[in-house]
Amino acid sequence: MPHAVSGAVVKVYRRFFLGGQKWTAYIVGPKSKHLVHEGEHKGGTCSYYDGKIYISSDQSAEQREDYFLHEVLHALIWLCGRGKFFAEDKLEEDFVVAMTPHLHRFLKDLGFEFPKVPS
Ligand SMILES: [Zn+2]
Repeated sequence: MPHAVSGAVVKVYRRFFLGGQKWTAYIVGPKSKHLVHEGEHKGGTCSYYDGKIYISSDQSAEQREDYFLHEVLHALIWLCGRGKFFAEDKLEEDFVVAMTPHLHRFLKDLGFEFPKVPS
């Protein structure tokens, strides 16, 4: 596990495209300012307009995959026009929280492997 560096990006987890936009997922220290959302520290966050996902280094591989998938789902909903589907942020969050473990399990059953954190 990489050591926690407060506020610093520890490493690039993965670069990818969603809806033609270039995205980057970063592994950051658990105290990173990038993990603060609405005043609370989270295990993962998503910054839509600059195409960035931040995931805390302070997690197991399984949790990290869950956070990555969770944030990618938020990004996909945003790309599809979130306001068309969810009248409030809480509804979207509840949907993403409910969907993530099922999608995670399904992808693993298909043989999908999440990227490893580069050493
Ligand atoms: Zn969420």
